[in-house]
Amino acid sequence: MKVFLKRHAKFLLTGILIITLLLAGLSCTGWHELLSRFYTPSLLVRAGRGLNQYYIQAEFDPDAKTLECYQKTEYINRSEDRLTHLYFHLHPNAYLYENKPVFEKRNMSLAYPGGFSPGSLDMIQVRLNGKEVPFVTGGYSENILMLPLEGSLDPGGKTIIEMEYIVKIPYCLGRFGHGDKMYKLVNWYPHACVYDQKGWNLDPYYAIGDPFYSDAANYHVTITAPADFVIAATGEVRRKKGDGSHVTWEIDAPAVRDFAWLAGKAYQTASRKVGRTRVVSYYFTPEAGQKALDYAAEALSYFNDVFGEYPYPRFSVVEADFFIGGMEYPNLIMMDSNLYKKEEGDYLELVTVHETAHQWWYGLVGSDQIRDAWMDEGLTEYSTVLYYGHRYGREKEEEVYDSLIGKGKYRYLKVYYEDGQVDETIHRPAYEFSDWLHYDLLVYGKGAMLFHSLREEMGDELFYKAIRIYFHRHRFQNAGKMDLIRAFNQVTEQDWQPHFDQWLYDQAKEYE
Ligand SMILES: [Zn+2]
Repeated sequence: MKVFLKRHAKFLLTGILIITLLLAGLSCTGWHELLSRFYTPSLLVRAGRGLNQYYIQAEFDPDAKTLECYQKTEYINRSEDRLTHLYFHLHPNAYLYENKPVFEKRNMSLAYPGGFSPGSLDMIQVRLNGKEVPFVTGGYSENILMLPLEGSLDPGGKTIIEMEYIVKIPYCLGRFGHGDKMYKLVNWYPHACVYDQKGWNLDPYYAIGDPFYSDAANYHVTITAPADFVIAATGEVRRKKGDGSHVTWEIDAPAVRDFAWLAGKAYQTASRKVGRTRVVSYYFTPEAGQKALDYAAEALSYFNDVFGEYPYPRFSVVEADFFIGGMEYPNLIMMDSNLYKKEEGDYLELVTVHETAHQWWYGLVGSDQIRDAWMDEGLTEYSTVLYYGHRYGREKEEEVYDSLIGKGKYRYLKVYYEDGQVDETIHRPAYEFSDWLHYDLLVYGKGAMLFHSLREEMGDELFYKAIRIYFHRHRFQNAGKMDLIRAFNQVTEQDWQPHFDQWLYDQAKEYE
C-alpha cells in the first residue's frame, strides 16, 4: 500500500479533495476506510507486479477433443543474464508417443483403459513482437519449444510472444486428458521454462514424481465451451457471456504458477467461505462431495492459522476421472473419483488434506519439483499429519504419523533396504529414483520424518515460527534448500544444516 500511495500521491490527493466536498459528513476514519477500499491494491496485485503475463483464448470442442488456442505471453527477463533464446514446455506432447509414456509400465492399462490414446500440442504459428518467427520443437518427446531471439533480451527486458496452436485431448485417466465424465485441461498450454542460477530447466515430463517447475505469473484466460459444461479453474471467473449454445468464461488468476481447468457436464457444487477464500467442492458423488468440502475447508482454515493466510479468493476441490489419488494445481486440486466411494472414506480425507497443504508448499512457496521434490512433498506430507493432530488430537496425530509414515512408508523401505535394493538419499532428482514406490517412501516418507525430527528437537513454537518465516519470505517465488534451512537457523540461532544433511544424504535412520 505504501508504494502505491507514493506513486499515486497526486491522484489520491485530488480524489480526497473531491470526496471531501461531496461527502462532508463522514468522519476521518470513514475517509480512510472509503479510500482504502478503492485504492489499496490487493496482495495478489502487488505480488503480480513484474511477473510474466499470459493471455490465453481457448475454444473447447468436446466432440473433436480439441482446444483451439491463441496465446500472448509477455515474458520478462528476471535474471541477471542476457538471454538469446526462450524456451517453453509443450507438456501435451509428452502424451504423444506410446513408447515414451508418462506412466510406469504397470500403470499403462489404468491410465489408458480404452487402449493408448495420444495427446498433443500442434504449434501453428509463433510471432515475436508482432513478427512471425521460426521455432524449433525438440526434447524427449517434442515437449520443448525453442525460440531464437533476434539479438538478445537484457535483464529486465520484456518481449511479447504470440502463439496459435491446437491441443488434442487424449482419452487418459492420468493428469491430462479426459474420461467418461469430465475433461482435465492441466499442463495444457505452452508454459515458459524456468531460467535460474543453473540456466534453463528443460526437463522432460518424467514418469516419476510431479515433474513441474514454474515461476509465478499472471493469467487472463477466456474459455469458450458448450453451454452445458461446468468449469472449475485456477483463479476467479470475472464474466460469463453466452449465445445460447456456447458460454465464454473470462478468468483472472494473478500471481499463480500455473493455470489448470477441469470441465464436466454433471458437476454439482457446494461451497464454504474460509477467511478470504471461497472453498468450492465439485462432485458427482453428493455425500462424499460434501465431505471433501469439509476436509478442504478445515485444512485451509488450520493452515491459514499456522502457516500464513491463503491469499486467493477461490479454492476448488474437484472430483475427476483420475487414477492417481490427488494432484495439486494453483487454486485447484484434482481428486481421484475412486476416493469418493464409501469404502475409500479415510483416504478421501488424507488426500484432500495433502493436496490442500500443497497450496502452500508448491502453490505459494514454489520449488524445483524435479531436483528438490522433498521440499514440497516432505513438508506437505508432514502438514497433513499436523492437520490430524489439530482436528482430532495428539493420539490421532501419532496414529496417522505411525501408519502413514512409519509402518506405511519407512518400515516398508527398511524391508527393501535390508534386501540391499535401496539407496536412502532423499535429495536427488526424481529421475534417479528406481520407481514410484522408491520415490514415495523416501521423498514423502523420510522427507516427512525430517520435518518431524525438527519439530521434536526445537519444540512447536520455534518450529511453527520457522515455517511461517519461510512461507512469508518465499511466497510467490521459488525457494531452495538453503532458504528453508535459513528460516530454522534464524529462529533458533543454531545451524541446522548438518541436521538436514544427515536426513537428506545419509543412509539408514531409525523410525521412532
Ligand atoms: Zn503431494
